[in-house]
Amino acid sequence: MMKGISASWGYSIGYVLLKEEQAVNVQDNCNINLGQELERLKRAVEVSKKQLEELREKVAKEIGESQAQVFDSHLTLLEDPEFVGAAEKEIIISCKRAENAINDIMNTYIDIMTGIEDQYLKERSVDIKDIGNRIIMNLTGNFNNPLTHIRENTVIVAHDLTPSDTAQLDKNNVAAFITDIGGLTSHTAIMARALEIPAVVGLQDITSRVKNGDMVIVDGITGEVIINPEEPVIQEYRAKQAEFEAGKSKLRELIGRKIITKEGKYIEISANIGSLAELEKVLEYGADGIGLFRTEFLYMDRNTMPDEEEQFEVYKKLVLKMEQKPVIIRTLDIGGDKGLPYLSTPIEMNPFLGYRAIRLCLDRKDMFKTQLRAILRASYYGNLKVMFPMISTLEEFIEAKNLLLECMMDLKQEGYNYNENIETGMMVEVPSAAVLADEFAKLVDFFSIGTNDLIQYTLAVDRTNEKISHLYNTMDPAVLRLIKMTIEAAHKSGKWCGMCGEMAADESAIPLLLSYGLDEFSMNPVSILRTKQIILDHMESKNT
Ligand code: PEP
Ligand code: MG
Repeated sequence: MMKGISASWGYSIGYVLLKEEQAVNVQDNCNINLGQELERLKRAVEVSKKQLEELREKVAKEIGESQAQVFDSHLTLLEDPEFVGAAEKEIIISCKRAENAINDIMNTYIDIMTGIEDQYLKERSVDIKDIGNRIIMNLTGNFNNPLTHIRENTVIVAHDLTPSDTAQLDKNNVAAFITDIGGLTSHTAIMARALEIPAVVGLQDITSRVKNGDMVIVDGITGEVIINPEEPVIQEYRAKQAEFEAGKSKLRELIGRKIITKEGKYIEISANIGSLAELEKVLEYGADGIGLFRTEFLYMDRNTMPDEEEQFEVYKKLVLKMEQKPVIIRTLDIGGDKGLPYLSTPIEMNPFLGYRAIRLCLDRKDMFKTQLRAILRASYYGNLKVMFPMISTLEEFIEAKNLLLECMMDLKQEGYNYNENIETGMMVEVPSAAVLADEFAKLVDFFSIGTNDLIQYTLAVDRTNEKISHLYNTMDPAVLRLIKMTIEAAHKSGKWCGMCGEMAADESAIPLLLSYGLDEFSMNPVSILRTKQIILDHMESKNT
């Protein structure tokens, strides 16, 4: 048995199809015709562009717009004169064949990116590989991709999957994905969740432990993978799988059901999203609201900052689509594991402790005010709230709130409409904010506990480091105590407290969070119905 990171729920029992790493057809570089090689490269890049545009359209139709957006960054890279230009230089200076030149440049990029202590960039190196391999394929005519024709019940095993791999797969025949590398934010993980196909990532060396045709059990709940299991184990998992699937269709009955406790308290079950495309799932699963809109995705995969008008349109669409349900927009939470090329933020020794989120926004007030103005203008159209990330001192919250008030005054003078009483809250994701929660509670309208970060800062465990993931303990008493203190402090001041970290959907934590009096649970939309069921089961068990 091997254990990795559970990236998408469910159970699968299927047969291995190994995605082999593509070996480049390295040929002798002698006697090449430079002009011909440059022309071959140019043509291969053009063909690749066309293929990517087609894939983008296919993924947008079959999976969703937000998943399709990854191809936009691929297309941008193909148009980036640095990448293709570097390969051209290799051809001219080192007299290389086009395929060898691209292969060498691709590997240099990958080496640089995987060497950077930035999980986001590390995971994006897979994009470079994807594009590089596509150009090579178009140069060599080697289109042998075993993933395009797969048999029923196939478990795809790969070092990591590229966006093109997943776009080409026949999803109906994929039983599960398992990979050597990757974390919860890797492409494989995101795609698997969107497709609701079980996935386990970060298994280290699964590709060298299995061979084609092996039977494997993938437990997307615990992150376990069992290779060539014995019959009784297969039976055990068939039963689990059947129970899970039956539960899933039964869960649909909970769509639209409100959770009200015996004491008459309404508990809101909301969704975390990062783009308008994800609204489809929010509406499908009947979320009570949006507990976290991660705005950083608006700023990523592009070369310039989104302006006020563009942001306003997005926030307005969001709040209108949600009708009068609450929508919490979190201001830009960039830095740490999420960089922005055009902000040219410096490389830091400790990015998670560095120049990020509210710290960066308070330093770049013009950029911050653009966002605040867009949020305020959209607040006129529905039940919009604003929330600041990574607040660690009282002064930071006060300064951010003052900027919001300043923006209100400017907008008033300019004749714009906005909600003057917009609820203003903060994420509690730094231990200092939890420790001083009673003081913060006097200033805010609400708290939302960000356990993803709160756990990493409390226990000093990098949330993206697979080597120490065993220390990242959601149920550590220190973490639990901070959560309890935060909820109690909010209630003492008559404020409400939600949670938008992954813990809000964690079965083992939910009963405790209910007993602490958490008012709102916000999560990946796919987890909403399951969480409602867990809460209802818990409430029922207390009654009996
Ligand atoms: C968190 O830290 O718990 C959170 C919800 O924010 P993010 O995962 O975007 O850092
Ligand atoms: Mg966070």
